[in-house]
Amino acid sequence: MSSAPDTPRRDADVLVLGASYAGVEVVYQLHRQAPVKPPRIVVVDRDREHGYLPLVQERLLGTIPAASSKLQTARYVESLPHARFVQGEIVAIDPDARTVDLADGTRLGARILVVALGSVLEPPPSIRGGERLLAHKSPAQFDALHAALGRVLDGSIDRPRIVVIGGGISGVELAGELAALRTRADRPWPTPPEVTLVGGSSRLVPILRPGVGARTERALAAQQVDVRTATRVVEVGDGWVEVERGGASSRVDCALALWVGGIAPAPILAGLGLPRTDEGWLAVGPTLQCFPGGAGRAEVFACGDAVRVVGGDGPWPTMQRAIECIWQAKLVAANALTLLGQAADYPTGVPPLQPHTLRPGFAYGVSLGRRSLVVWGPLCVDLPRINHWFRRWLMRQYFARYPAPAPAAELSAR
Ligand SMILES: Cc1cc2nc3c(=O)[nH]c(=O)nc-3n(C[C@H](O)[C@H](O)[C@H](O)COP(=O)(O)OP(=O)(O)OC[C@H]3O[C@@H](n4cnc5c(N)ncnc54)[C@H](O)[C@@H]3O)c2cc1C
Repeated sequence: MSSAPDTPRRDADVLVLGASYAGVEVVYQLHRQAPVKPPRIVVVDRDREHGYLPLVQERLLGTIPAASSKLQTARYVESLPHARFVQGEIVAIDPDARTVDLADGTRLGARILVVALGSVLEPPPSIRGGERLLAHKSPAQFDALHAALGRVLDGSIDRPRIVVIGGGISGVELAGELAALRTRADRPWPTPPEVTLVGGSSRLVPILRPGVGARTERALAAQQVDVRTATRVVEVGDGWVEVERGGASSRVDCALALWVGGIAPAPILAGLGLPRTDEGWLAVGPTLQCFPGGAGRAEVFACGDAVRVVGGDGPWPTMQRAIECIWQAKLVAANALTLLGQAADYPTGVPPLQPHTLRPGFAYGVSLGRRSLVVWGPLCVDLPRINHWFRRWLMRQYFARYPAPAPAAELSAR
């Protein structure tokens, strides 16, 4: 499938790798910002649809229907003029030729390459037996954890305990949602679990103010969550986890142990031949180019969870959140369109591109089972009804941004 050595392979103007928050928004923005007709776009991802991650704990436990809380990503892309979705496993890229190779042997190329391959929710190798931990980010993880919950909460185990590892926002939200199974009339399985939440820091949600951590702990404790801060899981066995606190170790028996303690770079990022930080994230400049100012490689961009912006004094303290993906994607689209507006050999040089704006904070909604905090700077209010409704409204707004009409064949069959 390779093209002649001196003929660049050009299946599109822009090749977007990864179609989650960052990738799909790049596509949206390319269409929105294109001055005349939109560029030709090819999008590659292993998944055709994407579960809504900000409410993943509600999807997992059936508080909202899992099947209808997914973005129909491929359908959205396929509905756009001059855009194509390719489902496949990316195995390599060539930043000079701007081509990508898929596991099935397909090679695709474009003038502009955008890498939006994200992160994985996986424990560090330092936890012995960490492969026993379950998580809920990727569709495969989600399905495996959903099935495991069904097995341990089906009534066959007396008082099954679930240990949630991770005292950040995702960890407290999952622990709260599990605890709320106790009082739910419509719970999906007969037996509600006992819940232990283990966090390594001295307080919960350490990225937020100390008062929010204390309030979160009180809200979870009031729902019978056994909260253990300043505690680390060091080993996971069959039916137990070993934890350490202040130099003393002990075992917690459990039916399941779940990892929500932090993300890692997507494995593919290590082998792409792109500059990386010491932690393995893609290092991009403020213009979100992988080779800022790099002759001949100006057309390689990256954004979203996969990247750390490095500029000035070093890495910027950038949030790895959906809203940050959207901000970055908007800039990548603008810069890509600037380059596409020039002849491919840039006879007068590569034009200057716009830098990203660092926005260090934003509002947080922290759902804690029957409670739900809204946090903005020093403000922290518990508005369970309003916030649960608001977060679902946000989800609907997100889906409406990327409308995905049913394919013509499906419509005519109705
Ligand atoms: C449990 C959890 C809860 C969260 N809650 C919130 C929240 O409430 N609010 C918020 O703002 N943010 C939240 N986030 C963060 C937010 O989900 C991320 O910032 C966002 O998903 C990052 O999007 P992305 O497009 O950069 O990467 P990702 O979402 O990681 O997507 C990467 C994409 O690349 C694809 N991919 C990777 N490797 C390959 C390959 N080799 N071949 C083909 N395809 C590949 C994947 O299939 C995936 O579609 C949460 C994250 C998690 C894990």
